[in-house]
Amino acid sequence: MSNDVGTLYVVATPIGNLEDMTHRAVRILSEVELIAAEDTRVSRKLLHHYGISTRLTACHEHNERNKTRNLLRFLQQGKCIALISDAGTPLISDPGFRLVRSAIENGIRVIPVPGACAAIAALSSAGLPTDSFSFEGFAPAKKGARAKFFEERKHETRTLIFYEASHRIVASIGDMAAIFGPTRKAVIARELTKKFETIRYATLGGLCAEVASQDAKHLRGEFVVLVEGSRANAVPGTLDGEAKRIVQILLRQLSTKQAAALAAEITGVRKHELYRFALSAKDT
Ligand code: SAM
Repeated sequence: MSNDVGTLYVVATPIGNLEDMTHRAVRILSEVELIAAEDTRVSRKLLHHYGISTRLTACHEHNERNKTRNLLRFLQQGKCIALISDAGTPLISDPGFRLVRSAIENGIRVIPVPGACAAIAALSSAGLPTDSFSFEGFAPAKKGARAKFFEERKHETRTLIFYEASHRIVASIGDMAAIFGPTRKAVIARELTKKFETIRYATLGGLCAEVASQDAKHLRGEFVVLVEGSRANAVPGTLDGEAKRIVQILLRQLSTKQAAALAAEITGVRKHELYRFALSAKDT
């Protein structure tokens, strides 16, 4: 696989189920001169399973800067490298960005070898709009920063996709329910492609109650959380029917301000939009 300048292959590997390895991924990993892996111990098991004996080198978030220089030199000598991560598609909440960017900047061909990705697998079976979505990766670990992170995404109208670690799933879902509102549709996709795969479809309020009451063994593993986008219409002044209906019901008992505030909490729509509608609804 040698040429004037080598090629960098970005190769997806399974996210649990080894059958999700593609034939092409096996061939490329067998043919390249070097495999740059996030954790060589993890990847060795995968390579062993497929009888691949290509040399491995570690390329992870702590050494990527220095490693990139060496790997570029290797590529410039005409040798080919495959980049893999512990699971799924490299660079998707995984290392490799620096290497890919440097390779492109140095005129090296970068070829994706597609395969599993937890975010896309979860989205494809979530039953939430897929025409437009926003991959958000991991929310910050600290409570304050996490709340701010969700606040900043509260009015996003696209389907939101988050990765979450098992020890933070309860806290994160709780924050999402509080910030996005309990009525938003949401999906928790756990342990995709693995033995204990479960996909829960509910509202954030429902999921919040469910994870809070679950015993620890159901909260183990890896999670993707998907949240329906805000139903606030991007065009100011054009609310959807459900938001209008909620405001009208609340106006029967509450002041304009209170109805708008409560409706904003329920629907995730901006308060001032609802307030404006509540004023006009009261007039008529
Ligand atoms: N590069 C990977 C990909 O393509 O999906 C993601 C790597 S990221 C470090 C690991 C996170 O991805 C996990 O914490 C979890 O949120 C999600 N994830 C990975 N595998 C998963 C699976 N089998 N089921 C559900 N979520 C998974």
